[in-house]
Amino acid sequence: MDASSSLVATTHVVLFPFMSKGHTIPILHLARLLLRRRGITVTVFTTPGNLPFVSNSLSDTDASIIPIPFPQNIPEIPSGVESTDKLPSMSLFVPFCRATKQMQPDFERELQSLPRVSFMVSDGFLWWTLESASKFGFPRLGFFGMGGYASSVSRAVSEHLLLLGPESEDELITVTSFPWIGITKRDFEPIFLNPEPKGARFELFMDQVISTLSSYGIIVNSFYEMEQTFVDYYNQKDQVKLWCVGPLCLAKPIKLAKNEPKPFWIQWLDEKLEAGCSVLYVAFGSQAEISAEQLKEIAKGLEDSEVNFLWVIRKTESELGDGFEERVKNRGIVVREWVDQWEILMHQSVQGFLSHCGWNSVLESICAAVPILAWPMMAEQPLNARMVSEEIKVGLRVDMCDGKVRGFVKSEGLKKMVKELMEGETGKEVRKNVKEVAGMANKALEESSGSSWLTLDLLIKEL
Ligand code: UDP
Ligand code: UDP
Repeated sequence: MDASSSLVATTHVVLFPFMSKGHTIPILHLARLLLRRRGITVTVFTTPGNLPFVSNSLSDTDASIIPIPFPQNIPEIPSGVESTDKLPSMSLFVPFCRATKQMQPDFERELQSLPRVSFMVSDGFLWWTLESASKFGFPRLGFFGMGGYASSVSRAVSEHLLLLGPESEDELITVTSFPWIGITKRDFEPIFLNPEPKGARFELFMDQVISTLSSYGIIVNSFYEMEQTFVDYYNQKDQVKLWCVGPLCLAKPIKLAKNEPKPFWIQWLDEKLEAGCSVLYVAFGSQAEISAEQLKEIAKGLEDSEVNFLWVIRKTESELGDGFEERVKNRGIVVREWVDQWEILMHQSVQGFLSHCGWNSVLESICAAVPILAWPMMAEQPLNARMVSEEIKVGLRVDMCDGKVRGFVKSEGLKKMVKELMEGETGKEVRKNVKEVAGMANKALEESSGSSWLTLDLLIKEL
């Protein structure tokens, strides 16, 4: 028995991830990290529709998994949809979040029959779980799936009302507290732009803020060495601290089933590697909605760039232009299935990632030492893209044809930046930088000595 095991002999952690891939995956990795310590038990809550994904992901662990029925009577939400990546439109996101509150009585009934809970990590979108934790007398930490940079810059911007000043959406505003950072109104979702309480989205946001302020802290999927300035800024403010325990993707196990047939895209990457070719991986996460017109433009840009590419698209995205896949077949493939993105990024042939900069994708790319071509689309992705290209300089940015932060990307602009990332001088620089940051990332999760490992130990000890 090592010294730490006696500290944790009776620790029971409840995890309740939000029902979207980007928010569930890192919490399942957190379950693994907790279970690597002796004496810890973990219970994960989910819904019946997400149960197969959650149980498959944790099948080789001792985590207990409890499904809570998802309400089926919500007029806006098609029955059977239990995950935001299955919503017919992102405009249903707020009703979806609101609907989760109906799970509260069943959740609390299950809590009653569980062994004593030491603490809970639940998603910010499940704001109501704080009430349950208070009823049962255990602390709750929130999880937002955001990094320290995005958290602290958003906070600084709100506190200093920076977005109220400029008339124009594209005027560069200097962030008080981080004077080297310039942002524009377009880096933010509309709810940040109007301080008046207004509409369902704002009310949900306020409910999240209020429940976070009464929580024990915030679990952050990042590591201190990469975001020190931003984490310190946040943590010197008040009692709701950021706890950096990532990058959580590093807790993902090495593939167990070695004798399973490789998916066709991994076989394809193997062939490219043998032929000595490097590949650009292209994927925009599980939520982004991309117009048919934009998809065709991406296809043209990739075709004209002449690089090798593996492009993962969602099933609903089919319009890539006539004959595209046939014309590029020797150097590009399009995959319309759920892939193991981490396995792809870790493949030796993959040397660049055209990404929407969802925070998980950013971290996975960094940990795999793959430089990023940033194309932010929604949520806090524009801030993640600034962090990637301006702060730690592990990536470049796609040019918007109108010079705006969220806008249309023309094939010529895409082609130019793809070539720059894969073959150009600035591409070389960011490639060098990402290797360095990858080294730091791996160190942060080293057992018993890394900063993130020790932070999680400290949290367990405190609670
Ligand atoms: N992902 C995956 N396979 C896919 C699509 C996505 O493994 O086919 C994973 C990806 O590795 C990441 C998560 O899903 O862990 C997506 O999260 P991210 O924050 O990058 O974007 P979001 O989907 O939330 O926009
Ligand atoms: N899945 C989920 N929530 C849902 C539906 C499916 O987590 O509401 C899981 C499913 O088990 C699978 C993964 O998401 O492992 C990818 O699903 P995909 O989008 O490929 O759809 P499917 O082919 O499973 O219907």
